[in-house]
Amino acid sequence: MDKKIIVLKFGGFALSTGENIKKICEIVKKEQENHKVVVTVSALYGVTDKLIEISEKISNLPAIAVEDAAKNFYEEILVLHYSTAKECIADEKILNATMEKIKAMLEKLRITLIGLGYPEEINPKFMDFVMSFGEKMSICIVSGAMKDMGIKTYPLTGYEAGIITDSNFSHARPLQAINETINKNLMPLIEKDTVPVVAGFIAADKKGTATTLGRGGSDYTAALLAKHLKACEVQIIKDVEGVLSADPKITKNAKIIRRLSYAEAMDLALFGAKVMYSRMIEPAMDAKIPVRVKSIFRPDDKGTVIVQKEEIIDKIVKAVTMMKDVSIINIKGVGMAETPGIIGKIFSEFGNRGINIIMVSGSSESNLSLMVKKSDVENTVEAITNGLNSGIRKIEVMDNVRIIAVIGAGMAGSKGVAAKIFKIVADNDASIIMIAQGSSEVNISFVVEEKFSENIVKAIHKEFVEK
Ligand code: ASP
Ligand code: MG
Repeated sequence: MDKKIIVLKFGGFALSTGENIKKICEIVKKEQENHKVVVTVSALYGVTDKLIEISEKISNLPAIAVEDAAKNFYEEILVLHYSTAKECIADEKILNATMEKIKAMLEKLRITLIGLGYPEEINPKFMDFVMSFGEKMSICIVSGAMKDMGIKTYPLTGYEAGIITDSNFSHARPLQAINETINKNLMPLIEKDTVPVVAGFIAADKKGTATTLGRGGSDYTAALLAKHLKACEVQIIKDVEGVLSADPKITKNAKIIRRLSYAEAMDLALFGAKVMYSRMIEPAMDAKIPVRVKSIFRPDDKGTVIVQKEEIIDKIVKAVTMMKDVSIINIKGVGMAETPGIIGKIFSEFGNRGINIIMVSGSSESNLSLMVKKSDVENTVEAITNGLNSGIRKIEVMDNVRIIAVIGAGMAGSKGVAAKIFKIVADNDASIIMIAQGSSEVNISFVVEEKFSENIVKAIHKEFVEK
């Protein structure tokens, strides 16, 4: 029988040392016994952040200091990649060929950074190009290490693998055509038992200009490949053993959830669990492909599997998450009710600016509360006041708040869960500042003051998950 395709995604942590990259190769080799394997990787650990930092730094430097800064960065990144490559590629020929490719890329990056120091200004298009270097270099090391271990492999950028996007730089979305391009570009390799090592996160638009899929987007790449290649499973392999029922830094009793539905996993990711990129669920769900989250250190463990069917376990609540770094923006104005369409206008302006509204609630016709990320506050307030202030009396920003989301498919049909949750909030002397309207069937989410949030998470976890 023909082997089925499996997509394995390795994140930055799995690429933090040459030792870990060797583990990747072992996992791939073992997986090849039963499957045709496709690999997606992030940049080496911390590299995307470094690329963003240097761009910001260089664009603020006096012209005279620019060339040195670009050169120093070249050296720093070269050393980082060389020391990692050396640990996982023993064959000198393969190591040299890998480093030659990386050096050529870094030279291009150095020149690009010099451009940024002179007349270029930072914009999302430029940043996507700069960030694309992280994954372009990491695929060379991972495929070099696989070759070293005798695995047939071929490195490809997202674009080379067939992922073509629109031109929404920094949060690009794939075009319809990718079904054809992914199959055309990858199937000939897969059929020959060659493992494509595809750069996660990065792609290009129709013109071939670099785009990225949003921070953490390599999970999304993996899910897109799995969907269009009709894979039997997509695995997110990281430094944790699966999806946890709460942040272990808040409660020591957090445990691995063995099975989740797509809807539950999406809400978990949306509300602060740093386990995966929420958008990746969509393509997996479309194609009904199971997503498995597991540890690079325990590849034989089953981890957490995310599937279509909601498993209503005897525990009604599966997880409690907390979202930090958020703010509430209260819009007050009697006139709002009289200005039809004003809400629509405000929201389309948010869309134009790429602002993501996490929660909305309107207590009356003339009041509206929005929850956004702290980093979006300025932009959001500007969007509201920008020529749309007819009737708006006052805009208030509330910081020091957190969202708590309680997640579990079993809540929908069971009475009194909300009452119990809200009693826990009251017992902690906290009050609920905002509740999500129209929240999904699988979560109850609400906002409390930051200072109460950790104790409430602990108490809810204790009541529903530990008992
Ligand atoms: N390297 C990218 C980032 O750090 C994408 C990813 O790791 O998923 O955001
Ligand atoms: Mg990630």
